[in-house]
Amino acid sequence: MKAIVIERHGEPDTVRLTDVPTPEPGPGEVRVRVKATALNHLDLWVLRGIPGIPPAFPHVSGCDVAGVIDALGPDVPGRWQVGDRVLVNPSLSCGECEYCVRGQDNMCDTFGILGEHRWGGMAEYVTVPARNLHPIPPALSFEEAAAIPLVFSTAWQMLVTAADIRPGELVLVLGAGGGVNSAAIQIAKAVGCQVWATTSTQEKVERAYALGADWVVNYRENPEWSKAVWKRTGKRGVDVVVDNVGQATWSTSLRLLARGGRLVTVGATTGPAGETDIRYVFWRHLRIIGSTMCTRGGFLDMLRLVEQGKLKPVVDRVLPLEEAAEALSILARGEQFGKIVLRVA
Ligand code: ZN
Repeated sequence: MKAIVIERHGEPDTVRLTDVPTPEPGPGEVRVRVKATALNHLDLWVLRGIPGIPPAFPHVSGCDVAGVIDALGPDVPGRWQVGDRVLVNPSLSCGECEYCVRGQDNMCDTFGILGEHRWGGMAEYVTVPARNLHPIPPALSFEEAAAIPLVFSTAWQMLVTAADIRPGELVLVLGAGGGVNSAAIQIAKAVGCQVWATTSTQEKVERAYALGADWVVNYRENPEWSKAVWKRTGKRGVDVVVDNVGQATWSTSLRLLARGGRLVTVGATTGPAGETDIRYVFWRHLRIIGSTMCTRGGFLDMLRLVEQGKLKPVVDRVLPLEEAAEALSILARGEQFGKIVLRVA
């Protein structure tokens, strides 16, 4: 099969379209003929090398997969048939450890992510556990379906499960253009929150409004954006800040929280060493909440709202698989709003 193969750590220009053996599905697994796969920042981290995770080359990344079941391995439940249109939950868990038994499978002892811990979707075929499959909602194309799994499930876990957002709360999303953040805007609105967002260009401001944001500030044009937020709340602060920016905004995010507020994070794009003024944390009863990926139950809940049309995939652009290097470069430069999707012919 053709695949975008990582043969060494490097930048996007080092990946190549190569022929590799087509994988065979093991027990409980299916082989999916990939129709579309969406990019995530995780693909860049895997490409550049993640500290503490030894490289295993060659590797195929790609966490978000939509396609058609091509072959069934042994012991796959009868409800799955060759030809079914499926999307894949990228969270890999054992189903048996202490955390899995409690329904916290995104904390599994052997937790992994499709495209990071096993070969992913930037290829003509991928094998995945059948328990990770979901039917694609009929109204969605393969490209739209591929734009759903990682970002919407991550944003769901972060806001609904971990931060427990409630109707009427004020949620501030830093950086509306990111995949998780554009999903977060929609999820917070679907819950009934008021949503404010920051972003970097006038075009992205308009797209954030189109997603349902109630107020959007361009932080490039307005370096005093945090003062504008604070003033707009009547110096009360916001209930929840979604901060996946990290080091550059961390201390500001804490200062923008109202009493009892929560700062939620699933990433730190600008660096890991944010400064925390501990006095704010206790005096204002703040909570700092981290999460990674999503539980299987949360994934189902999220997908239900997609099926009902309450959450919509945000596709920035679709490129052919052959242009993966260019697609990864666009992601690295942050030029997209929503998901960059690769179509696999
Ligand atoms: Zn487990």
